[in-house]
Amino acid sequence: MKDKKIIAYKKEQTRKIAFNLRGLIAKAVMQEWSRLGERQKNKPTLEYIKIGNKRSDLYLALQASICICPGCHQTDGDMAYNALLKHWFCTQCVQGYRDFYHKNKAILDQGGFVGDFDEDFHGTFL
Ligand SMILES: [Zn+2]
Repeated sequence: MKDKKIIAYKKEQTRKIAFNLRGLIAKAVMQEWSRLGERQKNKPTLEYIKIGNKRSDLYLALQASICICPGCHQTDGDMAYNALLKHWFCTQCVQGYRDFYHKNKAILDQGGFVGDFDEDFHGTFL
């Protein structure tokens, strides 16, 4: 896929502001996630599940946002959108997944065996 959307800040000051903001948002979300975890303790089953679903939604929203890379959990990288997975990944992880795909695909194509390789997942980064 050639038409990948990449967010890369050229001005150092803009980079710092954006990365600090991403870090603050990620920290605030995780604090709320932890707070909900405390509230969840000793609750009746139905309420426990409702709070658990809220925590899960919060975590998934953060993972899908541009604030954090779901591959390495960093908040200070240039980000590329993976439209197939509907998630933002840092450009370093994207390159890593691409390299991993090509390396393992070559082994598979030669009839070799590779463990822990998800061709569908890694192929979304090409
Ligand atoms: Zn990453």
